[in-house]
Amino acid sequence: MEYRSSQQSAAGWHAIIGVRARQQPDLTGVSMNLSSVSRRRWTWTIAASVLVLGCLRGGGRARAEDGAAKAPEGTPQNVILISWDGLDRPVVKELLDKDKLPNLAALLKEGSFQTIEVKGHTTVTKPGHAEMLTGLDTKETGVYSNAKYEPIPEGYTIFERMQKFLGGKDKIHTFMVTGKLAHVGGRGPDEIKAGGAKGGKAGKKPGKRARDLPDGADNVPEAERAGPEKGEPFFLTRKALDVFDAAQRDAGEVGPLCLKYLERYKEPRFLAFLHFSDPDHAGHKHGSGSDEYREAAQDCDKWLGKIVKWVKKENLYDKTLIYVMTDHGFDPDAHTHNHAPHSWLATNDKLVTHGGTIADVPATILARFGVDVEKLEPKLIGKPLTGPAPKGEKADEPRKEDDGKGAGKRKNKGGRKGLDKNAPAPKPAPEGATL
Ligand SMILES: [Zn+2]
Repeated sequence: MEYRSSQQSAAGWHAIIGVRARQQPDLTGVSMNLSSVSRRRWTWTIAASVLVLGCLRGGGRARAEDGAAKAPEGTPQNVILISWDGLDRPVVKELLDKDKLPNLAALLKEGSFQTIEVKGHTTVTKPGHAEMLTGLDTKETGVYSNAKYEPIPEGYTIFERMQKFLGGKDKIHTFMVTGKLAHVGGRGPDEIKAGGAKGGKAGKKPGKRARDLPDGADNVPEAERAGPEKGEPFFLTRKALDVFDAAQRDAGEVGPLCLKYLERYKEPRFLAFLHFSDPDHAGHKHGSGSDEYREAAQDCDKWLGKIVKWVKKENLYDKTLIYVMTDHGFDPDAHTHNHAPHSWLATNDKLVTHGGTIADVPATILARFGVDVEKLEPKLIGKPLTGPAPKGEKADEPRKEDDGKGAGKRKNKGGRKGLDKNAPAPKPAPEGATL
């Protein structure tokens, strides 16, 4: 593929991660041509230039207390955040190396691929997505695990924060389309009671999709067992959105809905969260070592391609930041993700310079729109992934797995040939952990 120049191949993925912005104008209006220079060296120069220009143009440092102020010049018009549920980082790298994810490759070629670690909660869907859409700790969201949760308080998600920052719901369209009914769900107690985990849209009667749930689909026993008294994580969020569309379904159903809502809500600007459950379901059913798991990732990639194609057709691509990531990885060659902290981020955001945790992604999105994330209450645990990497991290390198904090005391045992040497060995699920 195009991004695999000899230099990049020699240095492998670490070099690809460092490649940014070639010959294309970016959101700050900077144009670059790296054809005759060392890309690696220029990556740094360009990153610094872009950052400086971004600051000069007011890129992202408006005061949050301005509230109704419009977004500063230089900020993106739209953001699309996409979750490919349960797709392990080593497998993403494997598929990229084999040119099996062409649309993800095209996206990151314009921005970067970053290492994201899941920290602070079990590596499961509910807390992963609660963090992804708030940047907050579990203590704030109330979403601790798939079994222990309550609705995220009103005002805490990136959707609501953007509405407030821009001065109202009419200033930005916000919507969520999900492929899981319960774990990325927004049903209230009565709806859960009526529908159980048997499928159907939030607020509607169970649909026939329930019968198609794959073995190991992690919402089935969970929602029934949890019997939440207050509602699912996005029960309160749902009220603030233009559309909250959740059901148990695969990319073939989620993808067209994404395009439908994008078309409907493209004006004046939008913040969209699009969730594809396919890798997680394929992993539970067939294992993370299976062809089916990889094919599920490819299905996601096809829809990414269609979404990007639509964005380009609308002439919105240079105004739209796209972030693709996962809520958790998968245990190596297993049907579980009990200890699977290997998330990742692929984005066309040229200002993203380093990896971090899930919470850093929503912090990045808010900052890119112009919100002063340091002043938000409750305080975000995430920090923008722009600017210099935190001390101890290199911008162009995946961060080490074992840093002595949070991610853990795991031993790196090598593991899958040709994949991630740092992949941790599976270990028994922590008490209370669910899928
Ligand atoms: Zn799962």
